[in-house]
Amino acid sequence: MTDTPEVDLPGAAPRRHPKPRIDKVGGRKLKPSTLMMGHGYDPMLSEGSLKPPIFLTSTFVFPNAAAGKRHFEGVTGKRPGGADGLVYSRFNGPNQEILEDRLGVWEDAEDALTFSSGMSAIATLFLSMVRAGDTIIHSGPLYAATETLIARILGRFGVHFVDFPAGATRAEIDAVMAKANGMGRVALIYLESPANPTNALVDVQAVAAARDAVFGDSPDKPPIAIDNTFLGPLWFQPLQHGADIVVYSLTKYVGGHSDLVAGALLGSKKQIEMIRLMRNTIGTITDPNTAWMLLRSLETLELRMTRAGENAAKVCAFLRNHPKVERVGYLGFLDSTPGDERQADIYKRHEMGPGSTFSLFLKGGERESFAFLDALRIAKLAVSLGGTETLASHPAGMTHLSVPEARKAALGITDNLVRISIGVEDADDLIADFDQALAAI
Ligand code: PLP
Repeated sequence: MTDTPEVDLPGAAPRRHPKPRIDKVGGRKLKPSTLMMGHGYDPMLSEGSLKPPIFLTSTFVFPNAAAGKRHFEGVTGKRPGGADGLVYSRFNGPNQEILEDRLGVWEDAEDALTFSSGMSAIATLFLSMVRAGDTIIHSGPLYAATETLIARILGRFGVHFVDFPAGATRAEIDAVMAKANGMGRVALIYLESPANPTNALVDVQAVAAARDAVFGDSPDKPPIAIDNTFLGPLWFQPLQHGADIVVYSLTKYVGGHSDLVAGALLGSKKQIEMIRLMRNTIGTITDPNTAWMLLRSLETLELRMTRAGENAAKVCAFLRNHPKVERVGYLGFLDSTPGDERQADIYKRHEMGPGSTFSLFLKGGERESFAFLDALRIAKLAVSLGGTETLASHPAGMTHLSVPEARKAALGITDNLVRISIGVEDADDLIADFDQALAAI
């Protein structure tokens, strides 16, 4: 929720829950895991209810006509700063605003918006930034639906794109930046790191330096947005490395229980305000029930991600030495893998942990992958990631089935690749499950 409104209208009562700002105790700045229990919510404004109620309403009553007009000036962008009261549930609502406040805390973001899915967050971002004839620069690969949105859907409206491989060097990024700049207005630089499904990392610091070298302080300087679904907010915080907007599928680690679909964008007040106007227009906001579930999830975010990360380290240590395993594509092994020096260097400068989603390359092909997947007893055979339960899938035959063979080969999406997202179960139980599934090949 934004700050308590200044009540400068006669008879207008404050329209929002004033944001409790207890973010320091005895001079100590409180950690996000502490703030997740109460930040942005005052129980006394909801009958003392410890948890926020779910506000199931489509609209909010104005205290008087002048206040209603003032709120609409904010919602429509006539007056900067957004609405200073609740208006209509396509624009804002208490559950969503508390959620947005708490999400921003993890990365010290000035502002945040939540959406009905990761893809609706991404689509709203693009719609608010691009015009016909513009170019989007992006790293590759991107989540398949994001690539479709840029190339096939925005392409229909005259938007161009230029891409560079995730691990590109500064010189390679410079070349792409110069090429795109020569094509007309560059609307946005869009990154995904680690990339889905290869786990390849992008050098965000190099992208920011390359962008600044070309565009300087020009008002047309394109913002850098980055999909941080795989490592955020615990293991990577892109705003600290030169990114302007952070993109999330909250469906994954943040939701964390494989029981909801949602998305988010985080950034400066200025960037977020522009995107908010688009969200107000097209109504891609998350619903109050899902926002409430996400508040529940945020309370255990650090616990869940920490445990999943520890489990993944143990499971990967077991898998890498197994005779039926060709290779484990796990960020925690970058340092010791010859040929991965560039990726290891990016990792050291950016990331705070290797995460819990990795690629398992079995010896063999589709037959061996399917035999392994069919034999799993604890891990579930399902796409998605970041939940409490361990999931395993076959990208070449499932999420990336429609990707042309040549592109699959270039990205390393081979038939012997199994994608695994480790959950919070007992690590030794998981190892026993993978052990017996490998024996079944
Ligand atoms: N970004 C990444 C990296 C993803 O893996 C996904 C979904 O798998 C999305 C975005 C899209 O998120 P959603 O399914 O919540 O729309």
